[in-house]
Amino acid sequence: MTKLKKGDVVRSEDGKREFIVDALIHTGTGQGDVYKVHSDKDIFALKLFHTGDMNILKRQMHRLQLRGRASAAFVHPLYVVNVDGNVGYVMEFLSPEEYISSSILFNGVERVLDNGDVIREELPLYQKLGLWKLIFEAIKILFDADISLGDVKYDNIKINKNTGGIKILDTDTAVGGKAKAMVRGTIGFMEPLVMRGEKAPNKYSDAYSLAVMLYMSLISGHPLRGRRYHEQCNQNIDVYTFATNPVYVYNKKDKSNRPAPHEKRTIARLKKYPEYFLEAMHRTFVDGLFEDETKRTTPGEWLEIIDRLYEDHFICKQCGEEHFFETAERNCHVCGTELELPIKLVCDGSDRSGVYLFNGTEVWTGDLIEKENSYQLFKVVVSDFDKKFSLLCTSTQPVTLELKNGFSKDFGRGDIIPIFLDSKLTISNKYNIKFIGGTK
Ligand SMILES: [Zn+2]
Repeated sequence: MTKLKKGDVVRSEDGKREFIVDALIHTGTGQGDVYKVHSDKDIFALKLFHTGDMNILKRQMHRLQLRGRASAAFVHPLYVVNVDGNVGYVMEFLSPEEYISSSILFNGVERVLDNGDVIREELPLYQKLGLWKLIFEAIKILFDADISLGDVKYDNIKINKNTGGIKILDTDTAVGGKAKAMVRGTIGFMEPLVMRGEKAPNKYSDAYSLAVMLYMSLISGHPLRGRRYHEQCNQNIDVYTFATNPVYVYNKKDKSNRPAPHEKRTIARLKKYPEYFLEAMHRTFVDGLFEDETKRTTPGEWLEIIDRLYEDHFICKQCGEEHFFETAERNCHVCGTELELPIKLVCDGSDRSGVYLFNGTEVWTGDLIEKENSYQLFKVVVSDFDKKFSLLCTSTQPVTLELKNGFSKDFGRGDIIPIFLDSKLTISNKYNIKFIGGTK
């Protein structure tokens, strides 16, 4: 096994660049070691394989070099190197000061309280959804090109603490087309047939792993770990749960593995997540659990669902718990406070669903009046005067505001219209728009 030491010089295969070894940063579990290296002023990471067919590895690296350029999110080979018959590659270096594991999507982040105690806090839903969107956008590129990563897990996805950007690592495990069946990936993230060694991982395995991660992140717990996990079992419990006898906790037909009664958070969340989200999980963990892998929700479909969840949720002002318009009850199930729905703008006599007003929301005629030839009417801004939401008029259509007491005023492009819940807006002397919302 070739080991590099500080000061060793490694030249790229094309002879264009020389790298000087600084330190060993990661000892690979069988596959290869990762070193921190530098070349002039630039810092890189170098991965040197010590097992595997060197010719195959080399071909794979060249292929990944091209494919990895598809998205800035993939950490991919920049230079191929050859050290005493061992191949490896040089890639972008992700500094641990800057990049953290995406497991914060599941574990939350630590916060130090005034009294010095450290607590773990979940990320707010909008932040989770924003990060998930970036992850699915990157994986969709691979999925659509029929490439699988094969080992999708939290630790292989890093988040930049400063910019919120993501990086997907270990692209060297990505393979195109058919490969020999082998156990790869991490228990719990692996689909049952791969875990049993009956199938080689493919892009649908990635779709499975991502759905597990998304479930863990948004719902908490694991989609296959319900009450049966806590019962007496003759087999290794993880093999039983994830490989030989997997049953989705929310399986519509088989109710044998519902979350254990103590998993209160999981139960509450399964109850409140909208039907389209639960349906997408069901497709992955019931309909597509085994051979019917194409039934699993794809990264592209998840992207649409994530957008929808973003649009469909609001926050309890008291405790910050997320709720969904469709399923929200009168009171918050966490703190008991009466829920106050965001204000919504709707048009009388239109079949459009209307728009919830948040800071920065753009209101288009397509959301309010009719789908065709949509143009922007307003943008929600926060007024300097009383810090309340107002509408910035962005179109040239005349708008009339009429208050409950009969007072009315005309507005034009660039004007700021105050929001009064019981007021009415008339656009182009034709469409009547009103505000609804407040307490449910
Ligand atoms: Zn609450």
